Amino acid sequence: MNSSKTILLFDIDGTLLLSGGAGNRALNRAFQEKYQISQAMESITPDGKTDPAIVREVFRKKLHREPAFTEIEELKRVYLRYLLAEVKASSGYRLLPGILHLLEEGSQRSDLILGLLTGNWEEGARIKLDRSNLRRFFPFGGFGSDAEDRAEIARLAVQRGREYAGEWIGEDRIFVIGDTPYDIRCARAAGVRAIAVATGSCPWEDLACCQPDYLLPNLADHKQFLALISK
Ligand SMILES: [Mg+2]
Repeated sequence: MNSSKTILLFDIDGTLLLSGGAGNRALNRAFQEKYQISQAMESITPDGKTDPAIVREVFRKKLHREPAFTEIEELKRVYLRYLLAEVKASSGYRLLPGILHLLEEGSQRSDLILGLLTGNWEEGARIKLDRSNLRRFFPFGGFGSDAEDRAEIARLAVQRGREYAGEWIGEDRIFVIGDTPYDIRCARAAGVRAIAVATGSCPWEDLACCQPDYLLPNLADHKQFLALISK
C-alpha cells in the first residue's frame, strides 16, 4: 500500500539561504593557503555543483591536473576552518523569504518528512545552517561528502528518507527543491519530482527550460507551497 507521507529534500544555497559569498571566500582562502592561487573561484560558477566537484574544477582550470583524493580531503579541512569564520562574519548572509515559516510548519506535520539534498560537504552544510539554527529541522540528508555526483547524492537522500520514514514512499511523493538545473536533473535521475525556485542566481527562463514539475519565484508563500506538494 502506498504511504500518505511526503518527503521534501531541500537544497541549501540559493534555496534555504544565501551565504553572501562565504563559501566562495572560504574556498579562495583555502586554495591560497594550500596552493598559493589567488582568487581560485574566479571564472568558476559553483551554483548547483557539489563541493568535491568544485574543488576538482579548480584543480583542472588553475593547476591543470586532477586532484588526488588526499588533496581534496586536505583542501576540505582547510576550507571548513575558513568557512566557519566566513559564515559567521558574512554581512550578506540571510535566510530566503518564507523559509523559516515553511520549515516550522512543515516539521510540525506528521505527513511530511524534511531532509537535505545538497552539494555541500556535510560539515559545511552544518556551518551554513547553524547560523540560523536550521539544522534542527533536518534529521537526515544527502551531502557532497557522500558523492561527487549530485544524482548519486539524490539517490542516497531518497533512500535515507525512506529509512527515516520506516516505510516505502513512492517516487511521486518525493520532491527535490532547488534553485539550479542541477537540482532538477538530480531529481530526474532519482526518479522523483522537482520543484525549482528562482531565489538563487539561476534565471527563471533557464529553470523553466529544464521543465521542473513546479517553478516558483520564491517560497515566500509557504502555505501555497504546502498546498502544492499535497496535490
Ligand atoms: Mg543551490
